[in-house]
Amino acid sequence: MFSVFNLAKKFGDVEVLKNITMHIAQGEVVCIIGPSGSGKSTFLRCLNLLEVPTDGKIYYNGNVLDAELDSRKLRREVGMVFQRFNLFPMFSVLKNITYAPMHINKMKKSDAEALAMDLLGKVGLADKAQAYPSTLSGGQQQRVAIARALAMKPKMLLFDEPTSALDPELVGDVLAVMRKLATEGMTMVVVTHEMGFAKEVSDRVIFMDKGYIVEEGPPEKMFNHPENGRTKEFLSRVL
Ligand code: ADP
Ligand code: MG
Repeated sequence: MFSVFNLAKKFGDVEVLKNITMHIAQGEVVCIIGPSGSGKSTFLRCLNLLEVPTDGKIYYNGNVLDAELDSRKLRREVGMVFQRFNLFPMFSVLKNITYAPMHINKMKKSDAEALAMDLLGKVGLADKAQAYPSTLSGGQQQRVAIARALAMKPKMLLFDEPTSALDPELVGDVLAVMRKLATEGMTMVVVTHEMGFAKEVSDRVIFMDKGYIVEEGPPEKMFNHPENGRTKEFLSRVL
């Protein structure tokens, strides 16, 4: 689905992504782990062209991406869920979810609302359709954000530390929704510090450090027999 070759990203003179080559197959769940500042968010943002790479090529379904031509279409197909939910505070939960399907995908209001209710059921929040974001817990807001992303019928979802801003007791409900999506075959790239989730749910784990992919492999290998010294050192701190 995605093939990334020799991707680099500079902010001014600072190269935050260096020579990233990786591939994501349809249906795959890839977790990206690594220390703060290693380039994980920047890499995710390059995948849906929220950041324009400085160098390298990204192929999406076999076609090379052009940041100017393809970003709008790509963002319709590749949804993103952020650490800080980013819900529209002045809209009800229902309207948060129906807004993009109606205004970008030109879906009829009644269809968009039926879809939104279906998705709210899926994330366990059918009773919150008329609530406003500020009245919800962080975990509930994040589940609304996931429903909102799903309402665009994405082919793939990117998650950037979706549970990092949550109180510990709220993390489980969000991870449960993500786990369900994974088992249903959604293609997902998840930047996370939840090592249990990465271990159980991902098909592949990528360890990034200082702008490089240092090591990648199936979770069993990455968590039980990491080869690289930096991977070992990082895991010894977080596990
Ligand atoms: P991570 O998500 O792994 O914590 P980031 O991708 O957010 O890492 O950041 C990688 C590096 O790039 C950091 O040093 C950060 O300060 C820098 N960086 C990120 N975004 C910008 C930006 N818009 N302008 C300048 N520097 C940035
Ligand atoms: Mg980040």
